[in-house]
Amino acid sequence: MMNQIKYLLGFFSLIFLCGCSNQQHQETYRQWVEKNGKIKVLSTTAMINDLVKQIGGDYVDSMTLIKGDLDPHSYQLVKGDDEKLSYADVIFYNGLGLEHGPSLHHYLTQNSKAISLGDRINKENPGLILYVNGQLDPHIWMDVSIWLKNIPTIVKTLSDLDPERSSYYAMNGNELEEAMIHTHQQIHEIMHQIPSEKRFLVTSHDAFNYFARAYLADENELENDQWTKRFAAPEGLAPESQLSAVDIRYIIDHLHQYQIHLIFPESNVSKDSIKKIIQAGNEKGLNIQIACCPLYGDAMGPPGSDGDTYLKMILHNANTLATHLNHVGQQHAS
Ligand SMILES: [Zn+2]
Repeated sequence: MMNQIKYLLGFFSLIFLCGCSNQQHQETYRQWVEKNGKIKVLSTTAMINDLVKQIGGDYVDSMTLIKGDLDPHSYQLVKGDDEKLSYADVIFYNGLGLEHGPSLHHYLTQNSKAISLGDRINKENPGLILYVNGQLDPHIWMDVSIWLKNIPTIVKTLSDLDPERSSYYAMNGNELEEAMIHTHQQIHEIMHQIPSEKRFLVTSHDAFNYFARAYLADENELENDQWTKRFAAPEGLAPESQLSAVDIRYIIDHLHQYQIHLIFPESNVSKDSIKKIIQAGNEKGLNIQIACCPLYGDAMGPPGSDGDTYLKMILHNANTLATHLNHVGQQHAS
């Protein structure tokens, strides 16, 4: 009987929750299609949307296309996306090959109101964007000093659409830039409190190359490109479920070479591949563990979490790494 009551309570709370989130969704959508004088800005990822919200303030209705834990690499347009895209005055996307799901990629590259932030940065700062196995690495939000280069584009785009408020957008942009410069320095300091021999990161997929170059590398490693040893992942630039024997051997050798004992999961990526690595490594006597707390890779955290804004997300990663990499080293030193 108790079980039945529990079941019914669970069932009704689920209906209640679905109702609430549906209501919230309808309200956001109603506002989105309402002609209220605000600029409608659609961003493909939450990391872009967060910048837009802070610069646009009350004069912009902003929306994220690829919500929650969905994978931005493979996202394909679904029912309802057409309306979101068509009502947008402007669409910001990451580019550099991130949104490569064919239907979304086609829409973005054919539409004149879609702006690729990453490709603009690449054009204006040749040499800043990384290549992995000959492919552009799209994960530029992982280096705050690169991500802040989007601010002028967003300020200018909003100002062109709403010239009367251009000084407001410029002021918000300046404030955001200052906060981002500060966080960039803060993360560098947090990471460099970890001794160099413990400052190595291994995660599920290749999302942290920019993070490694900006925050994990020692100064001399930047000059001779030795910083790449600071980060490794079994899966490629986009998360894939299949690992080859070569992928596994590469990571096992890497873990062994740099005496790495901890692998970090990512909040929106399956743990299957790192579990395989841990099993293979431990069969070779390497003593590898999976970290308890995931990092935010391609997705921010849910509202109310410690990753619900862009800067909180990156700081969460830095603090999680600092806590665990110092701890795991001490564990093994004893
Ligand atoms: Zn990724």
